[in-house]
Amino acid sequence: KVRVRYAPSPTGFLHIGNAQSALFNYLFAEHFHGTMVLRIEDTDMKRNVPHGEDSQIENLHWLGIDWDEGPDKPNPKYAPYHQSQRVALYHKYIQQLLHDGRAYKDYTTEDELKIMREEQRKNGEPPHYNGRWYGRSVEDQQNAEKQGLKPDVRLHLPENHVYAWNDIVKGNVQFNSDNMGGDFIIEKSNGMPTYNFAVVIDDYLMDITHVLRGDDHIANTPKQIAVYEGLGITPPKFGHITLIYNPKTGKKLSKRDKETLQFISQYRAQGYLSEAIFNFIAFLGWSPVGEKELYSKPELIKAYDPDRMSRSPAFFDQSKLDWMNSQYIKNSSISTLTNRILDLINEGESDIAVKLQTVELPNLEEFIWHVTEIYQREVYKLTDIMQKVYFFANIEKQTFNYCQFNKFPPETVQSILMDFKKEVLAEKNTEDINFNEIIKLVGDHTGESGKQLYFPMNIAFTGQTNVPRIGSVLKLYSISTIINLVNKALS
Ligand code: GLU
Repeated sequence: KVRVRYAPSPTGFLHIGNAQSALFNYLFAEHFHGTMVLRIEDTDMKRNVPHGEDSQIENLHWLGIDWDEGPDKPNPKYAPYHQSQRVALYHKYIQQLLHDGRAYKDYTTEDELKIMREEQRKNGEPPHYNGRWYGRSVEDQQNAEKQGLKPDVRLHLPENHVYAWNDIVKGNVQFNSDNMGGDFIIEKSNGMPTYNFAVVIDDYLMDITHVLRGDDHIANTPKQIAVYEGLGITPPKFGHITLIYNPKTGKKLSKRDKETLQFISQYRAQGYLSEAIFNFIAFLGWSPVGEKELYSKPELIKAYDPDRMSRSPAFFDQSKLDWMNSQYIKNSSISTLTNRILDLINEGESDIAVKLQTVELPNLEEFIWHVTEIYQREVYKLTDIMQKVYFFANIEKQTFNYCQFNKFPPETVQSILMDFKKEVLAEKNTEDINFNEIIKLVGDHTGESGKQLYFPMNIAFTGQTNVPRIGSVLKLYSISTIINLVNKALS
């Protein structure tokens, strides 16, 4: 039975690269009707950030990624799910390796390490631990202890030994023990296991069958296999997902690439829909058969095929993301979008959301609903709609470029606007005016149609020539606002 895990370290917030690993583990588990485990790798206490864990979990949920087991859903057979609560377990296996002579205590001091590296640099050798404490006598160890030295524990690597595996993504991969930096630390002198050790013990004890993670971990895998071999355990299958690259620099996406949003919370705040982000990330490092690009989550689960994971870099394509998001916005119901916009305003995580918090409207929700109806097909992000909401809510404070009227004969503009005003003022039921009807009447009275009819009104009421549906825009305004805008345009 398939058991996979996503194992974040709470050393930061949910990055698109983290989300990618989580998402492929999720698809893998769902596709094969397996179990997805969430494990928190929090042993590097110094690097953990406040709320790192909560925020990652919240953003995973927002994205629609869920797990079967984890700190919030413990299975007594495998709990606990925080590495910091499992230290005694790691220690037990360290003792076993020490006992079997597979691991040894290393009393090398920081200064001695520095000298070792310096010598290697002089000799043109790559930096490595030279095994100086391997096979040392009990006496030597006791002497070191007497000096108050606290040892790290290192795993001994056999010489010229090949660690090979058939990677789910990369195919055959192998490393030689001679090029792995020497015997490596599995337990630090403070009693904390290193990542490469704890991860093996956990994957083993949690019955993980497939390890899918970013290919920045590929050089860790031979070390982990060495631990498995040391303990006499069969390793799980490994798959190393291609990292996400910045197409502009041709390099791995890095936190320094300021123009690209990196954290899932930023996408959310900018008004990307979680379904669109999910779809987009699924195509970073994987693709289904065929040309179709819009896939719902259930469709992705069904179509997912680990054999189609890509070996080449996944380039982050902003315009594709925007296109996808626009499609999801187009295909969502107006009330769903309205609710999401209300949430964004409440969360106040973008400039426009903060601005909208100050807008006072008798019925904000209805207002947003109407603006969404008008712009749903024209925008890339929900924040684009929010900009429009702010614009229309403050329409009388906007400065319009009336020069645009110059493209039309002044008397045409005049007669259209005057007639429009007259018809609006003549309306008895001002609660429910059908502006499209009025526009039609104005067309009949003035003999104008098409751009000649619409553009002057568009300019007068929005300051722009292109408006998807001016009849609906006018519904956003009060009668007095409409009259004020006409008067301003005529003056
Ligand atoms: N805690 C590791 C990380 O965040 C997990 C790597 C793994 O999946 O083994 O990179």
